[in-house]
Amino acid sequence: MTRTVYVNGDYLPETEARVSVFDRGFLMADGIYEVTSVLDGKLIDFAGHCVRLDRSCRELDMKNPHSQDEWLAIHREMVARNGITDGLVYLQVTRGNPGDRDFAYPSVDVEPTVVLFTQSKPGLADSPAAKTGWRVISIPDERWGRRDIKTVQLLYPSMGKMMAKKAGVDDAWFVEDGFVTEGTSNNAYIVKGNRIVTRALSNNILHGITRAAVLRFAAEAQMEVEERSFTIDEAKAADEAFITSASAFVMPVIEVDGAAIGSGKVGNVVPRLREIYLDEMRKAAV
Ligand code: PLP
Repeated sequence: MTRTVYVNGDYLPETEARVSVFDRGFLMADGIYEVTSVLDGKLIDFAGHCVRLDRSCRELDMKNPHSQDEWLAIHREMVARNGITDGLVYLQVTRGNPGDRDFAYPSVDVEPTVVLFTQSKPGLADSPAAKTGWRVISIPDERWGRRDIKTVQLLYPSMGKMMAKKAGVDDAWFVEDGFVTEGTSNNAYIVKGNRIVTRALSNNILHGITRAAVLRFAAEAQMEVEERSFTIDEAKAADEAFITSASAFVMPVIEVDGAAIGSGKVGNVVPRLREIYLDEMRKAAV
C-alpha cells in the first residue's frame, strides 16, 4: 500500500510529496521532530509529545505552526488514512525554505515546513525483544551540547547504531566524562534493589516523554527513583537495566560491553514497569 504522507496542509501519496532543496532541514538539519506511537489505533501520550514539540520550537526560535488540537487532528487523519492499528507517527518541522542557502536564519517570515509520515508496526507492544532483552555496548558521546532539543540532526546516533550493529548487539549507550548519558535513541536506567537510577534532566540528554511517565508510575508503585548519573561499572553491578522510548516503551537491557547485568536474563522489575506503562498508557490513549 502506498503511504499517505502530510506536507504543509496536503495529504499526498508518498511518491508525490515534495520538499525544496533549499529547505533548511535538508541543508542545515535545522528542524525538529516527534515520534508518537499508536496502539489499537490510538495515540500514546500525545499531549506529552506536543508539549516537547512546542519547547523544541521555542528553544530554536522557530514558529510552532499548529495548536495541540490541530496537531491532534492531523495525527488522527494520518492514522486513519494509513490504516494504522499499531505503529508510529513521525512529525517533522523545519525552519522552511528561504529560497537560498545562508547560515543565518531567514529574516523574512518564512513558513515552517511540516511533514508527517507513518510506519505500520503490527504487534508493536508485543516485541519478542521485551522477553529476551537488549545487549548494548558503550561508546563516547560525541553529540552536540543541546541534546534536550529533539532535532533532526541524528548522524552521530546513526553512527552509534552502526557501531552496535557491527559489534553484534542491539544498541549503544553514550558515555561522557565517565557517566552514561543515554542510549542512541532512548533514555537509560539501572535498577538496584527497589531503586531505579537514571540521569537527571539537563541539556545533556533528551527529556524523554516515556521517561517522565515511567518515573511517575515507578513512584506510584512505591519504587524509589534516583535521578543521578551512573557509570558503566555501576551498570555492570546492577540487578537489572532498561531503556525507554516512545517506540520501544520499556525495554530490558541484559548485557553491557559483554558483561551480564544481574542474572544476564530479564528480571522482575523491568517487565512489571513495562506492563504498568503499557496498561496506563493504553487507558489514556487518544
Ligand atoms: N533519548 C534520545 C537521544 C532519543 O532519541 C529518544 C527518542 O527518540 C529518547 C531519549 C526517548 O524519548 P521518548 O521517550 O520521548 O521517545
